[in-house]
Amino acid sequence: MHILHCDLDAFFASVEQRDHPELKGKPVVIGAPPNSRGVVSTCSYEARQYGIRSAMPSSQAYRLCPQAVFLPPDMKRYQEESRKVFNILAEYTPVIEALSIDEAFLDLSGSHSIWGSSMAIGHHIRHRVKSELGLNISVGISTNKFLAKLATNLCKPDGIMEFTDQMVVDLLPTLSVDNLWGIGSVSAQRLNHSGIYTVQDLLDAPEQLITSLLGSNTGFILGLAKGIDNRPVTPYEETKSIGNEITFPKNVSDSLAIEQVLLRLSEKVAYRLRRAQLKSHTITVKLRTPDFHTLSRSKTCPTAVNDSRSIFDVARMLYQQSGQEGKPLRLVGLTAGRLQGSEYEQLSLFANSGPDISSVIDRLNQKYTSGTIIPASLLDNHERNQ
Ligand SMILES: [Mg+2]
Repeated sequence: MHILHCDLDAFFASVEQRDHPELKGKPVVIGAPPNSRGVVSTCSYEARQYGIRSAMPSSQAYRLCPQAVFLPPDMKRYQEESRKVFNILAEYTPVIEALSIDEAFLDLSGSHSIWGSSMAIGHHIRHRVKSELGLNISVGISTNKFLAKLATNLCKPDGIMEFTDQMVVDLLPTLSVDNLWGIGSVSAQRLNHSGIYTVQDLLDAPEQLITSLLGSNTGFILGLAKGIDNRPVTPYEETKSIGNEITFPKNVSDSLAIEQVLLRLSEKVAYRLRRAQLKSHTITVKLRTPDFHTLSRSKTCPTAVNDSRSIFDVARMLYQQSGQEGKPLRLVGLTAGRLQGSEYEQLSLFANSGPDISSVIDRLNQKYTSGTIIPASLLDNHERNQ
C-alpha cells in the first residue's frame, strides 16, 4: 500500500471560509457571477446540499440557492495556499504527481523507513494541513493510483481510507461503473442502457459488448474493474519555457519579412502555451547574425500572456530596439519564459463575453490541420490573391 492520493476539500471555498469567518457554515460559490454566462468553479459543502456542483452554470446555481454567497476566484491566493500544501507533501517523498491545484499522487515506496506506514503518513499530512493551514485534505491509500483515488472519493470530505486487497474483492464489484477512471456520464449512460450498472455487471458482460461500448479504452477499464492499474506516479516536470526558432535558407535583412517571421513564431508559441494551459511573463527574442553572433533581448510583461497578438507586440518591439533592424540575420527565435498555469483563469473567460477567440482558433486549427486560421499578414501576396 504505497500509493497515496490526496485532495483538498472544496478547496477555493474552504480558503474563503477560513479567511472570512462570517462565511463559515454558509453556502459559498466560487466562480462567475450568477447574472453571467460563466460557471461554478468550486462550492462549499453547504452549497452542495442544494445540488450545486462544479462546472454548473452560475445562473443555475443561483436558481438552486439564491441565498448563496457568490465570490470571484482569487487564484493568486489559492496558488499560494496550494504551494504551501505541496511543500508539506514534499517532505514525505520526492515522487509527487500533481493532478491539479489541490490534488496529488504520492509514491511512498521509499518513505516507510523514515515515516512509517502509508496510513501513518496520511494521518501526518492531514494533521499538518489542518493545523498549519486550517484546511481539510482527504487521503486515500492503496496499491495503485486508481484505487487510491477511489478511496479518497469514498471517504470525502475530511476522511482517510485505505483501499485494501479485501475491498477489491468485496467492495469494488458492488460500486457503480462511473467509479472507474475514464467512465464519464456519457459512457456510464451507454453502459446502463445495456443493463450494466455495477463493476460486477461490467466483468460479467461479454467483452465484445464492452468493446463496442467503450472502444479502445476497454482493456484499461476492464483492468480497473479488477483493481489493476499499472500507471506509475509520474512527477510533473515543470516546463521552464516554450520557444520556437527559424533558421533561414539564406540571410534575411528585410525588416518587414523579419516581423512576419516573428508573427508566425508568436502564433506557434501562443498555441503551445494555450495547449499546455500556461501563460508567460517574459518574452525573449533571439537574433543570430551571419557571423554567428547571437543576441537575446527580453521583456517582462506586466501581466502573463498567451495570445499571439500580445506576444507579437513585445517581440516586434524587442526586434525594433535590437539595433538589428534592416541588417542581415540567419536565425530568428522567440521564447516565452517564466510560465504560470492559466487553466483556472479560463473558467472566467466565459463569464461576461463570448468564447475567447484564441481558443476558438485553436479548436479550428486542431480540427483542420494546424495553420488553417492565421492572421492575414502572414499570407504572402500570392496566397492572398488566390
Ligand atoms: Mg479538491
